[in-house]
Amino acid sequence: DCTAPVAVALDGADLPRGAGLPRGFGLPDDSFAHDGQITKRAIRAVTLAALGPRPGEMLWDIGGGSGSVSVEWCLNGGRAMTIEPRADRIANIVANIAAFGLADRMRPLHGAAPEALDALPPPDAIFIGGGSGAALVDALPATARLVVNAVTLETEALLLDLHARRGGSLTRIALEEAAPLGRMRGWTPARSVTQWSWP
Ligand code: SAH
Repeated sequence: DCTAPVAVALDGADLPRGAGLPRGFGLPDDSFAHDGQITKRAIRAVTLAALGPRPGEMLWDIGGGSGSVSVEWCLNGGRAMTIEPRADRIANIVANIAAFGLADRMRPLHGAAPEALDALPPPDAIFIGGGSGAALVDALPATARLVVNAVTLETEALLLDLHARRGGSLTRIALEEAAPLGRMRGWTPARSVTQWSWP
């Protein structure tokens, strides 16, 4: 039937209403290539809100994992260096850069902090999702906004101390999602995240 309307995606004007990715934060986890180690959608949305991307700003995403935080930073106008020591996760980061079309603004860096941070372009904001330690945090450029997420007691203890020493905001995020429980449904809690942001 050649009279049926077909949307032809030549440029934005031809896309059907509502097509494409929503702007804002917190894309579904499965929008990304990942191995399970990913900042979950709702936590990611809160994290990006705390990071506060502005056009052209540079993010250091330390402990990149899948790169989901960098991707959402870049979709909101920023540029990012995504630092990750595991080769299999760098492969996911590379796949996500391609899938989201961000090759001009998001760079994977295969290495570990703090060594890998030498010679990076200066950051406007830094996110630490892995590899935190007191020495690392204290060595970061003091001019950048900082957001650190913790799920372990050891990293949380570090954040409590940083909050006492340097101020900023300390937030604990507890999430539960409805999931099957036998023939019914029940709330299934995710691991709570403690988040310190500065200033
Ligand atoms: N925000 C990520 C998930 C981070 S998981 C996402 O949304 O996908 C934490 C990551 O930190 C892991 O992939 C781990 O390999 C990495 N990591 C651990 N120690 C590190 C270090 N010293 N420097 C950089 N990354 C590190």
